[in-house]
Amino acid sequence: MILGCLFSSLFLRCQTSTITSNNSIESKDIKQDKSNLKMNNTEFEVVKSEEEWKKQLGDFSYNVMREKGTERPYSSEYETLWDSGIYVCKGCGSELFHSETKFDAGCGWPSFYQSIKKDAILEILDKSHGMIRTEVVCKKCGGHLGHVFNDGYDQPTGLRYCINGASLGFVKKPK
Ligand SMILES: [Zn+2]
Repeated sequence: MILGCLFSSLFLRCQTSTITSNNSIESKDIKQDKSNLKMNNTEFEVVKSEEEWKKQLGDFSYNVMREKGTERPYSSEYETLWDSGIYVCKGCGSELFHSETKFDAGCGWPSFYQSIKKDAILEILDKSHGMIRTEVVCKKCGGHLGHVFNDGYDQPTGLRYCINGASLGFVKKPK
C-alpha cells in the first residue's frame, strides 16, 4: 500500500503501524519478496497459472492480487458502498468480510475491523518498502488483499483491514 499511503494523510500511520495477530506468520517461515506468492502458490487450495489468473482477473486486479499492487485511494466503488452483504475474494469467491464490519476509515480504501471468520485470510509479515507491515492475503488462493493496521481506534477490534477493492467482489444480502 505504499503508493496509496504516500498520497494520503495516513503516511505517518502507515510508516509506524506494526501489528501482531493470531494468524501472523513470522518472516522465518515465509519469504517476503515479491515473488513469494508466484513461486509458492502451490501451498494454497486454489492454484492457477499466471496466465489463467491474468485472464480471469484482468490486468488491473491481476496487478493488485498477484503482483501486490495498490489501487489509487478513493478509486474503488466499494470504498463508499454501505449495502448489506458479503465481500468475497475476486480470485476464488471465498467469503472474506461482512458489510457489518466495514467502516469509514477515511483512508480511501474499503476498511473492515475483522474478517468474516478467522481462517478466511492469512496475515503475513511484510518488510517491503522499508516498512514493517502485516499483509493480508486470501487463505484459499493467496491473492493479495491489502494490509492490516492497529489504528482502528474506535472499532471493536482496534484493527483496520485496509483492502483493495480490486481484490473484492460483493454479494448483496438483506440484513
Ligand atoms: Zn481467494
